[in-house]
Amino acid sequence: MSYLLDYNPGAPQYTYPRRGGAALSGTCIIHTAECAMDLDGDDTSAEVCANFIASRADYGSYHRLVDSDSIIDMVPFEYEAWQDSETNNWAVGISAAVQAGRWLDIPAERRDRIYRNMATAAAEFVRHMAAKGIAVPLRRISGAEARARVAGFCAHGDSGLYRSDPGAQFDWALFFEYTQQALSGINFQSATFHQEDELSAEFERDVRAQLSKDEAAFTKLDRDLRAQLQGLPSLDRDVRADLAQKGQQIAALTSTTQALAGLVGREQGLSVDDIKQAVTAAIAAGLTITVKAGE
Ligand SMILES: [Zn+2]
Repeated sequence: MSYLLDYNPGAPQYTYPRRGGAALSGTCIIHTAECAMDLDGDDTSAEVCANFIASRADYGSYHRLVDSDSIIDMVPFEYEAWQDSETNNWAVGISAAVQAGRWLDIPAERRDRIYRNMATAAAEFVRHMAAKGIAVPLRRISGAEARARVAGFCAHGDSGLYRSDPGAQFDWALFFEYTQQALSGINFQSATFHQEDELSAEFERDVRAQLSKDEAAFTKLDRDLRAQLQGLPSLDRDVRADLAQKGQQIAALTSTTQALAGLVGREQGLSVDDIKQAVTAAIAAGLTITVKAGE
């Protein structure tokens, strides 16, 4: 079960059969994915990177992508992935969800598990080729050898154009030592191979975690905004005070109308002074009155 075969909404990240019907030569390119790294807590580096690869609009993918607790089968070895423009046609790519210049920033125990998972993926490739009658030596090969389809392991920085991964800090001796152990049947694997549903459960958990972070951020933003608005005089008045004032204005208007009606009822006629007095009282209560000339 390969991740990208089921989930690849972005640019197509593989093709099958390989272009021109090319066969695997036993060449394996070693990469770092140059992605964000989780240096403590749950390691979701490979999962987040896998999702990025599946969704990206340009080309760039690997056959296996590992972090300290995951080995993700991205594309079957027999398929062609877009891992190195110079060797794609006959090679496979194994990548660590790590930045080439930051291997030594990773806590030692976590870094060790990343090497073990890369070795597990490499051993899987060596066995895959052995079943096809091709021996892959645990040897670092040059870029020229990788481009000439020699079996072995090559840094993407050596085979590829304008690349430097997996970087000068990558410990080739340790990688080969662990790959040899994996091939000898020593079971040190620190990862569980992800089943599809486990991966989506993990993604769901990540998304939920992000959403709850966003929600907390929203609550804080809302609180901060309210606090700032409290300080502004024009917005300081709350709705109840506003309504009370409107009520007073309505009462003033009512009493003005009643006063005018009383004067009419007593047949005393309306003097200009009567009207002025009533209107002045209404204005004092906050009522705005527009007086129109007779039409
Ligand atoms: Zn690379």
